[in-house]
Amino acid sequence: AIYHVDGQFMPAEKAVIPVDDLAVVRGIGVFDLLRTYDGKPLFLQEHVQRLFDSAKAIKLDLPWSPDHICRVALETLARNDLEEANIRIIVTGGSSPDFMTPQGKPRLIVLVTPLPRLPRWWYDQGVKVITLVSERRIPDAKSIDYLPAAMALQKAREAEAVEAIYIDRRGNALEGTTSNLFALIDGTLVTPGKGILSGITRKVVLAIAQGICPVAVRDLPRKELPKAQEVFITGTNKGLVPVVQIDDTPVGDGRPGPLTRRIMAALEAQMTAPRLS
Ligand code: PLP
Repeated sequence: AIYHVDGQFMPAEKAVIPVDDLAVVRGIGVFDLLRTYDGKPLFLQEHVQRLFDSAKAIKLDLPWSPDHICRVALETLARNDLEEANIRIIVTGGSSPDFMTPQGKPRLIVLVTPLPRLPRWWYDQGVKVITLVSERRIPDAKSIDYLPAAMALQKAREAEAVEAIYIDRRGNALEGTTSNLFALIDGTLVTPGKGILSGITRKVVLAIAQGICPVAVRDLPRKELPKAQEVFITGTNKGLVPVVQIDDTPVGDGRPGPLTRRIMAALEAQMTAPRLS
């Protein structure tokens, strides 16, 4: 694989950054992840715009234009011979003499890797998720610090679940570690609007759903979830995945529901379907 690191293209095994970068010493940086479909990046501008929003939210000044980052991402993709790819655009805090304060010299990294295949049964049968009390401190920022996410996912896997849903201290369900949450409650499709990352897949799904059923962007108390007829999660890396069990409680009849399947089909028609094994 060929990566882009701080102005240069280089083979993955030679791609390095200085060890005094704030990303290494403090976990300071932001990133965004997008994918290709038919070899072309999906929603590149939107992801780059979100990268800028993330940087702003953590007060990291970016010396590049969104156009420049789009061009670097496209060129990195072109230098890799991949059918379908994930593109990770990362901006590190850069090196700093006080090991704390960004100095206006962030490093831009673009990683292009093969699009992973996801298990078909996730989409056919639906998956289990767990809930846990946790929330991301700066929800609008896609910060590189995914320690709570990694630990939550470990807990999910121990419970044979594929995602962990964060519940905030007031008891509202927010989102998954790398996905947004939707629940069909009393015939209305509900998704939280606060305390979450504004997912790009979430926006596409909201637009589709608006033509199909009542939609509400509002708080979603954890205690409402047991009465949801259908639940699903969305994200760039997984598309739309039906959720059929939350902790120990089945959702609806324990199978992906009709609305979920309808939106999944619409997503596929819009060419955003995940790659299955
Ligand atoms: N929420 C969080 C915390 C995420 O990390 C992600 C993606 O990784 C999402 C939601 C889904 O966003 P998108 O659909 O833009 O991938």
